[in-house]
Amino acid sequence: MDKVKVVPVKDTTDNIPLIINPLFIKAKKSKKKSKKKRCLKCKKKLGVMPFNCKCGNLFCSGCRHPESHECTFDFKTEAKEQLERQNPIIKFNKINPI
Ligand SMILES: [Zn+2]
Ligand SMILES: [Zn+2]
Repeated sequence: MDKVKVVPVKDTTDNIPLIINPLFIKAKKSKKKSKKKRCLKCKKKLGVMPFNCKCGNLFCSGCRHPESHECTFDFKTEAKEQLERQNPIIKFNKINPI
């Protein structure tokens, strides 16, 4: 007696449009303009996976490193701030009791 009737939900899912994700809509919209992205440094055409640097520019795999494209992003300040946020105790280690 394990004849469980599984009601297919196909009818309802069919009515829901595929595009419910706002991100998906955005991607579709930008695809219309088919503006090929290029590496800011060497102007090489970027593939499907361009490297988005923190300075706001896109680079190829060869130029993605901050040192490779004279990155304008202040990594030192960010690293310092992150460290301070994660380990606020470090500050207290400065005190050197003799
Ligand atoms: Zn490049
Ligand atoms: Zn950069």
